[in-house]
Amino acid sequence: MVSSGKKIKKCIECEGDVEITPLVENGIHFEGYKCQKCGHTIVTLDQMQRYEKARDLKKALPTKRKIVKIGNSLGFTLPSNLSKYGLEIGRKLEIRVIDESNIQITFL
Ligand SMILES: [Zn+2]
Repeated sequence: MVSSGKKIKKCIECEGDVEITPLVENGIHFEGYKCQKCGHTIVTLDQMQRYEKARDLKKALPTKRKIVKIGNSLGFTLPSNLSKYGLEIGRKLEIRVIDESNIQITFL
């Protein structure tokens, strides 16, 4: 269920209290609201748009890349048509090691 409001304080079905809750859809993590009374999940238009932007980025990003040599460094390339998602030359990234075979890249 999508609400046009920016923030939700009450469930639009039962008027119960809602709390922000983490949601996962198609492997994409985003926030929504969950009614503490009836259990309905509600997302605002803003939350839905963030989810849709992430979903579109997921479609545009290749899932597998090969490490290549770039000058004296190692790297991997991304398609150049991702600027509409904010992935541009010069964009700063933060890289965190999650475990021995996973890293997390966050756009700053
Ligand atoms: Zn409710």
